[in-house]
Amino acid sequence: MEAKALEKLVKYYRENKISHAYLLETNNLEKCFLELKTVIKQIFCQDEYSEKCSKCNLCNLVDQNYLPSLVIIEPDGMNIKKEQVLELKKQFSMVPIYTKDNIYVIKNAEKLNGASANTMLKFLEEPEPNIIGFFISDNANNVISTIKSRCETVKVYYDNHELDINSINNDTYKDYTNAAINYLYKLEVEKKDVIMYNKDVILCKFKEREEIKTIFKIILIVYEELLNKVMGFENKFSFDNLNNLCQLYYKDILKRINLVIKFIDDIDSNVNIELLLDKFVIELGDYSE
Ligand SMILES: [Zn+2]
Repeated sequence: MEAKALEKLVKYYRENKISHAYLLETNNLEKCFLELKTVIKQIFCQDEYSEKCSKCNLCNLVDQNYLPSLVIIEPDGMNIKKEQVLELKKQFSMVPIYTKDNIYVIKNAEKLNGASANTMLKFLEEPEPNIIGFFISDNANNVISTIKSRCETVKVYYDNHELDINSINNDTYKDYTNAAINYLYKLEVEKKDVIMYNKDVILCKFKEREEIKTIFKIILIVYEELLNKVMGFENKFSFDNLNNLCQLYYKDILKRINLVIKFIDDIDSNVNIELLLDKFVIELGDYSE
């Protein structure tokens, strides 16, 4: 799951700390919805859910939107209509089938109008046990305040700039690609003063976390291309200046890839970025001896 905030919901559920209603504010509604379904599957899977489950009936029902205790509401035309909410209430007057809880998901929650929101409110004001609600919206401020104030708001943001080898050969990423190549040169060819380089060059030039993250995503792509090259597969990256990288063994490249992935993960938590960069250099250095 890409959204850490959603992953936490599984934990809260297991610890009995789940709220009865969440407002998920996201920049990618469809992805958020899909990942929310993964949360639901992880919670209720009848098998051992790991990356995915294709075996159990329950996960299949969630995938196909056929699980009776999971109701998904989307705007019918311009709005979410009162009738849709009434239908939900009717369905939830019964005990859940297959799962311990009834769950509803309201997509585009900002489309609840006065009438439908009012009908909805009763759900939220007198929360019945065994009902969990998720309101998804791309802007929490547009959700009617009576609903919003009764939900726990969770921000679910995705990095929409998916990078691959083709995008790094593109002009948009030129600065980052150059920075990544120079950084790799410092790390893998010169192998000295890299800690100073972190401070004097990288942190001076790139002030935002996202920028440094982009550089490391490009570094990851370069190592992945290197892995392809070493294994004799097709690759699209020119290793001109980084030619000595091609002497690395498969296992050493894998170690580097894991380090970079860990770095990219860690950069999202609020750690001190300078320390994180230094740690990366030291750990990578251990492999270069
Ligand atoms: Zn399952």
